[in-house]
Amino acid sequence: MDAETIQPLLKSLGEATNAISADVLAVDGGVPLVAWGSASEAGVRGESLSEMRQAIRDLTAKAASNNGRGGVQESSVPGFGLLAHAVRHAEFVGGVCVVRGDDQPWEDNDRTVLAMAADMCESVMQAGNVTSEHGRRLDALVSYVAAELMGISAVELPETTYRILGELGRFFDVDTCFLRRNDPGLKASVLVDEWPRRPDVPDPDPLGIVPWDTDDPIFARVRDLKEPYFVRPGDHRDEYQERVASAAGVQDVSAATVPLLRGDVTFGVLGFVHFGDRMWSRQEVHALNAIASLLTQLYGRVSAEERLHYQAYHDELTGLPNRRAFVEELSAILDKEPEVPLALMFADMDRLKTVNDVLGHAIGDMFIKAVAKRLRESVRPDDIIARLAGDEFVIALRGISSSERAERVARRLLNQLTEPLDVGGHVVSRSACVGISINGPASNGVDDLLGNADVALLEAKKRGGNTVVSFNDELRWQLLDRADLEFRLRSAIGDGEMRLHYQPEFDLRSGQMTAVEALVRWQHPERGLLSASAFVSVIEEINLSAELGRWVLEEACRQLAEWKRTASAATPPSVRVNISAGELISADFVGFVGTLLSRYGHAPAELGIEITESTVMRDVDDVLATLMGLRRLGVTIAIDDFGTGYSSLSHLKQLPVDILKIDRSFVSTLADDSGDRAIVSAIVRLAEAFNLTTVAEGVEDPSAVAALLGLGCHRAQGFLMSEPLSAADIATWLDNPGDYLGSK
Ligand code: C2E
Ligand code: CA
Ligand code: CA
Repeated sequence: MDAETIQPLLKSLGEATNAISADVLAVDGGVPLVAWGSASEAGVRGESLSEMRQAIRDLTAKAASNNGRGGVQESSVPGFGLLAHAVRHAEFVGGVCVVRGDDQPWEDNDRTVLAMAADMCESVMQAGNVTSEHGRRLDALVSYVAAELMGISAVELPETTYRILGELGRFFDVDTCFLRRNDPGLKASVLVDEWPRRPDVPDPDPLGIVPWDTDDPIFARVRDLKEPYFVRPGDHRDEYQERVASAAGVQDVSAATVPLLRGDVTFGVLGFVHFGDRMWSRQEVHALNAIASLLTQLYGRVSAEERLHYQAYHDELTGLPNRRAFVEELSAILDKEPEVPLALMFADMDRLKTVNDVLGHAIGDMFIKAVAKRLRESVRPDDIIARLAGDEFVIALRGISSSERAERVARRLLNQLTEPLDVGGHVVSRSACVGISINGPASNGVDDLLGNADVALLEAKKRGGNTVVSFNDELRWQLLDRADLEFRLRSAIGDGEMRLHYQPEFDLRSGQMTAVEALVRWQHPERGLLSASAFVSVIEEINLSAELGRWVLEEACRQLAEWKRTASAATPPSVRVNISAGELISADFVGFVGTLLSRYGHAPAELGIEITESTVMRDVDDVLATLMGLRRLGVTIAIDDFGTGYSSLSHLKQLPVDILKIDRSFVSTLADDSGDRAIVSAIVRLAEAFNLTTVAEGVEDPSAVAALLGLGCHRAQGFLMSEPLSAADIATWLDNPGDYLGSK
C-alpha cells in the first residue's frame, strides 16, 4: 500500500472530523500503516498513551470483524472518543480509526465522513499495486480526487465536479471530458458537466439530453455500460464521430467511457475525448475505475442527503413545504424586516372527515392533493404556502397589510376552493374556513402570527363553515381571558370552587325520572357560575382532567348518599358521571370507582359513566380493559354523543356498553329533518339488536318527543323537561314529582 497516496486522505478525514489523529491499521499489525496526527502530539503520555493505542487496535479489529461488516464502531478512553470503520482490499484486513476529545460527541456526519474515507482507502488501494513513476502519479491523482470529494455537500458539488473534470482532463491530456448521468424518467443520458465548457453550445445541444434509444454506438451503450469502453479513430466511421463532428467540429477522435456503477446499476458515465489517436494503459484504466467509484459514492451520498433534506422540509402527500420549512422561511423574512407587510392565512377544510369516512382515505388523500394544487395556483409565486397537517394549510401573502384586503383575497380563495373537484371519479366539493393575522408593529414573530391566525380560524369554525375571520382585538381579549382561565383553574379544584349540577333523564312514556347526569360547574370568583363547556376543554389541555374527574366521581357518590339520607320520598335511581379519555385510562380507575361504591354504600347499578364515542375510538384497547373492569363491578356504561363518529358502530359488539346516548345534533332537528330521523331510527334499531337502551339528548321541543316515541326511543334528557339543576332542586323535584313537561 502506498502511504503517500493515503496520507492526504487521512488528513482530510482528520480535519473534517476535527480529530487529533486518523490512522489506517491492519488488524494483525501493531503500529498504524498510515497515520495523520497522533495522540502524543495531542499531549497524551505514558500509560494513557498505550491505553489509547490498545483501544485503537481493539476498535479497528471490531470494525473489521465479521468479514469487514462491523460497520462504524465507537469506543472511548478517558478524555477521548474513538470511531472506526473497516477497510478491506484483497489480503489487507484492517480499518481506519479517528480519535478526538470527548467534549464533542460523534454525530452522524462524522460517521458518514469516516465511512467515505474507508471506501476511498479501498478505492485507492484498488488503484494501487503500481510502482512506476506514472503509476505513482496516478495514485496521487486518485487520492487527490478522494480528498477533494471528501465531506463536500450538495451545494458544493457542481463546482467541485467541474474542478475535478478539469484536473482529470489536464492530467490525461484529453481535449474534453465529461460526466453524464442516466435519467430513467427521460430514458436518456443527460450531461451533468463537461470540461472545458463549450463557448457556443448549439440549441438544442446535441450532447445535452441524448435518448438511450439511438443508433450511436456510445450513447446506445451508456445505459448499461459495465466495463470501460474505448473508441479510436478508424473504429467507427459513423454516428459517434459525426455527432462529435457536429458538436465540436473535429473529425477523428479517441474516447474512453467509464461507467459509474452502483451495484449493477449504471447510473452514469465519466467520458474522455481526445482529438486524434490516444491509447489508454492498464494502469490508467485502473485509476479511471477508482475515480469513477469515488464519484459514484459521492453522488450516492449527496443524493441521499438531498432526499433527506427534501423529506425534512416537504409534506410527503402534496409536495408542498411543511411546517418546519414554512416557519424557517418566514422567520428569515421577519428577522430581516420585522414589520414587513404580510398577511398570514390559516385555511382548514370543513368536514373533510366525512369525505374520508364515506369515500375512503385514498380519495381523501387525492382530494387534499388537488386542494393543495389549487391553492398553490391561486396565489402568487412569491407567496409562501405550506401544508401543516391533515386539511390544514397556511399561506403567507406578501405585501398585504390590512385585514380588509386579506379577507378579500381569502374569499376569492374560498370561492376557488369550493369549486367541485373530480377525484378518482367522485365529484367532491368542500367549503373551508380561513383565519387571518396581519404582520405589523404589534406582532411578535412567527409563533405569534401563527397562533393568532389559529385563534381566528377557530373562531371562523365556531361560526359555521365557509367563513373568514381576521384576528382582532376582541379575539386578543378572549385569548387573555383564556390565559386567566388556565391560571385560575389550576387552583380551582383544590380551592373548592367546583360544583355539580344534575340534569334528570326521564322515561318519556311514564314521566318517571330514570337517572340524573352530573355536570360540572365552576363557581368563578368574578364571573359567576360557568358551565362545563366554558372550561372542560381547557382542563383537558392542561392535564387536570384526572384530578377533576376524581373530584366529580366522589362528589356525585357523596351527593347520592346525601339524597338517600335526606330525601323524604324517592331518590334518583342512578347518577351518571361524564368521564374523559384521560381519566378513563388513568392508573387504577376501576379500583377507585370500587372504593367509592363501598365507601358510600351504593349498589354498582346506581352509578353510571358516560364516555364519548371519540374517547372510545382513541385507544380502543386501553379503554376496553377499563370498561371490562367497570362491567365486572356492575357499573352502567353509556356512550355519549353517539352518532358523531360512525366508525365505532363496528366496535360496538366488542364493547361492554349498556346505553347509547343519541347526540343532540340529531335530536334537535328530528321533527323536520328526514335525514336525522333516518339516523336516529338506525341507531335505535342497532341498539335493539345489541340489546342496548337508547337515551336522546337535547330534547327542546315537544315535536321531538313525539318523533322519538314513534321511533322507539323512550328515554330522554333536554331543556324541555329540565335543565341541569342543583342538588337541592333535584331533591325538591323528587319530593313533588309532577308531569315532566311541567316540571320546569
Ligand atoms: P354532554 O355530556 O353531552 O352534556 C350535555 C350538555 O348539553 C350539558 O352542557 C347540558 O347542559 C347541555 N344540554 C342538556 N340538555 C340540553 C338541551 O336540551 N339543549 C341544549 N342546547 N343543551 C343541552 P354542559 O354542562 O356545558 O356540558 C358540556 C360538556 O362538558 C358535556 O357534554 C360533557 O362532555 C362535558 N362535561 C360536563 N361535565 C363533565 C364532567 O364532570 N367531567 C367531564 N369529563 N366532562 C364533563
Ligand atoms: Ca354526557
Ligand atoms: Ca352528549
